[in-house]
Amino acid sequence: MTLGIDELAGMLSAEGDEMEALLESAGKLKKETIGDGIYLRGLIEYSNICRKDCLYCGIRRSAAVGCYTLSEEEVLECARFAHRNNYGSVVIQGGENQSREHIETIARLVRQIKELSCGGLGITLSLGEQTEETYRRWFEAGAHRYLLRIETSDERLYRSIHPDDSLHSYALRLEALEALKRCGYQVGTGVMIGLPGQGVEDLARDLLFMRDMDIDMCGMGPYVESQQTPLACASGPRLPLEKRYGLSLKMVAALRMLMPDINIAATTALQAIFPQGRLRAIGAGANVIMPNLTPATYRESYFLYDNKPLSFDSKIIENNIRYGEWGDPVHFSKRSGDC
Ligand code: SAH
Repeated sequence: MTLGIDELAGMLSAEGDEMEALLESAGKLKKETIGDGIYLRGLIEYSNICRKDCLYCGIRRSAAVGCYTLSEEEVLECARFAHRNNYGSVVIQGGENQSREHIETIARLVRQIKELSCGGLGITLSLGEQTEETYRRWFEAGAHRYLLRIETSDERLYRSIHPDDSLHSYALRLEALEALKRCGYQVGTGVMIGLPGQGVEDLARDLLFMRDMDIDMCGMGPYVESQQTPLACASGPRLPLEKRYGLSLKMVAALRMLMPDINIAATTALQAIFPQGRLRAIGAGANVIMPNLTPATYRESYFLYDNKPLSFDSKIIENNIRYGEWGDPVHFSKRSGDC
């Protein structure tokens, strides 16, 4: 079956038994295509300082939270923890900062993490839009994956959730994704699900966007209001959280059907709605989990949205976790022609 917009929108509208059947068959397809291994990425929330002012985000420039940036030693300690515990990879995520000092520090940290793990730890960066030169610099330092969500592939909707200025340009976001590919990264993107004004057709188009971009990884999850952000305070109809949760699981399943060999993360925002969120996503086709390694004292300053879970109980899926493996997306090796 070719999956076009109608088929995908149909999947995203499934309810009850039909929805359960969709999630189950996507879970099965994952097993058959890439196996049932789950890969860990230790998440290091490096800094909440951000030059952007996205209308939905809890760490936007005008958010009233205390600023923090982890010290280099704190980041290295997280990486040592990940290495000792056989995590395979770490993700350094943070607000968007294009200062020279930031760029140098990240390059240094990447090199040091490579060194302390004797090349063992894979490194993903998620630090927003940067120039191609910066992306290249970090790649040469040893980072090999980059996550940059498009947030929504619909330009009109994108504009409605960002300030209307050149710093928040949809075209530049797209260009950044292209630049990442040119540099040789395994590229991840994703969207928020259940945004005000977003329908199942928009989400179906998001899925087709990811296929057309030929991405290697995806992290997507429900939009969850973050108090005092303009989008949370705006009036207008909203999808109940439970619906956003169901839609997110269906998005994971539909994407697995569309792109069977990519890596799909079971994201933290899912868990913010239901404690079983991430496990359900694994059942519906996700194969990556990002346990948070950020030192506890900083976690409250990195509240992207309300009720963000502070930890994760992994016992139930323990048997499937592939410790010590990078877990590169099969899609990437095919795309770059080495298998
Ligand atoms: N600054 C970096 C990454 C940090 S934010 C970047 O631009 O890529 C990481 C992700 O958190 C964002 O891409 C966004 O999709 C998600 N996020 C932010 N606010 C959110 C909210 N209110 N609900 C759900 N996800 C949110």
